[in-house]
Amino acid sequence: MPAWDSVDHLLALDPGERGIGAFFVPGGALAAARALRGARRVLIVTGFAVAGGCPETDGPPGAAVLGRALRRLGARVRYVTDLPNVRVLRAALVALGERADVLVYPEAADAARTVLARERPTHLVAIERPGRVRDGRYLNMRGVSVGAWNRPLDDLFVEAMADGPVTIGVGDGGNEIGMGRVRARLLRQGALMARIASVVSTDHLVVAGVSNWGAYGIAAQLARQAGRPLLHTPADERRMVTACVRAGAVDGVTRRRAPTVDGLSLETHGAVIELLGLIERTPAAPAGRVS
Ligand code: CA
Repeated sequence: MPAWDSVDHLLALDPGERGIGAFFVPGGALAAARALRGARRVLIVTGFAVAGGCPETDGPPGAAVLGRALRRLGARVRYVTDLPNVRVLRAALVALGERADVLVYPEAADAARTVLARERPTHLVAIERPGRVRDGRYLNMRGVSVGAWNRPLDDLFVEAMADGPVTIGVGDGGNEIGMGRVRARLLRQGALMARIASVVSTDHLVVAGVSNWGAYGIAAQLARQAGRPLLHTPADERRMVTACVRAGAVDGVTRRRAPTVDGLSLETHGAVIELLGLIERTPAAPAGRVS
């Protein structure tokens, strides 16, 4: 087990008491940031529709913040999602002052292969994106199928295994792309979790109390490595989440069209960002030091 660092301690906060301690990955954000260092072409996949016409607020802000950090470090960054999430993702990017370079996932059966061949990503990142279960369905945290509203973007990760880009998954529920990596632990968490646990694995997995925080945690680790700030501010967070809701997003937990993420207020997210900001300005401990 790797030592916990200060980013891990923040990401493992579980204010919704969803039990992430059972599948948390200490050192996950640091390992993901190390893998992303010097990345040339990054494709970021995000967007979770919790019901028909209901894309959620968790995911797109994380994608925008991590994407901006990687762009500032010299990567070419593109985003891909399906139709229900396009407006929300674009809104988050524009609110952060980023170019909304969003690809709409094609309708064709060989969509994943087409996108990978065209984009040739060196790195593929999924943030809060449904990952299939063993029988191929996509289930929400209540065990209800969401396959009607979420296209199989996890095909990108299944295809990538053979093709070679480095893959990174970020999630908070057990049912997202990347969770295949901790599947054995998920299967021990009761019948519901065993049913919704995704089989789609990634090279690196970041688990957090809220998926956006996982993406922010990677950005904070990138900032420590690079010696320059890369995170956003609580004011940016407010602008992004408000813009997402105006573009049609709902809170994935409460299902309300309100500027909250996973049932948590903007003040709560702002507090986590303040603390991560403190950490990103602290030089990383030398390798091997137990924090
Ligand atoms: Ca979430």
